[in-house]
Amino acid sequence: MSNLTDFDSEEQDGYIKIDQYNTKHVDRIATYYKDILEAIGEDPKREGLIKTPERVAKALQFLTHGYDIDAAQVLRSAMFEEDYSQMVVVKDIEVYSMCEHHMLPFFGKAHIAYIPNGHIVGLSKIPRVVDVFARRLQVQERLTNEIRDCIQDTLNPAGVAVVMECKHMCMAMRGVQKQNSVTTTSAFTGAFQNDVTRSEFLRLITASLD
Ligand SMILES: [Zn+2]
Repeated sequence: MSNLTDFDSEEQDGYIKIDQYNTKHVDRIATYYKDILEAIGEDPKREGLIKTPERVAKALQFLTHGYDIDAAQVLRSAMFEEDYSQMVVVKDIEVYSMCEHHMLPFFGKAHIAYIPNGHIVGLSKIPRVVDVFARRLQVQERLTNEIRDCIQDTLNPAGVAVVMECKHMCMAMRGVQKQNSVTTTSAFTGAFQNDVTRSEFLRLITASLD
């Protein structure tokens, strides 16, 4: 363990959740947030705010931890040779990210499919790849493309499809204040550029199991 690293742990239902922080970064970010509190007219010394700069710094570090993770490596860690060559769809993956223009959250769902070409990947790795790219400052369009490109370049499937539907707090809470508008983005490669395959994917992600 490096001396720059600090751990917060919390026990819940027998599991221990451990958050890891770089203490040097936390201290630096917290110092700036104390200034920000003053700049907006607050008193950083009042009781409710004393620990706020440190909490915000830790939250921010968590929300941007994707910078330190190699998404391709996440996929490579669970790739298996397999003959299966039908569409694999993982839908309703929760997405939480932050827009790079306002540093406000955007969140929603991602639906991802690929058509194996000799290799499949452990299913849990697809949501992990979404997280690696989402836990950075983003725009939804780039996030969609980065997920597509990572799966295409690493797994080399016959095609990749990514559809993402998100609500943006910078639209809902400020600016145009449109609370219920959802932004949809999509990105396709290979076989999904074919109308029939793409329609099947879109049908599968809108179908329900009951
Ligand atoms: Zn924004």
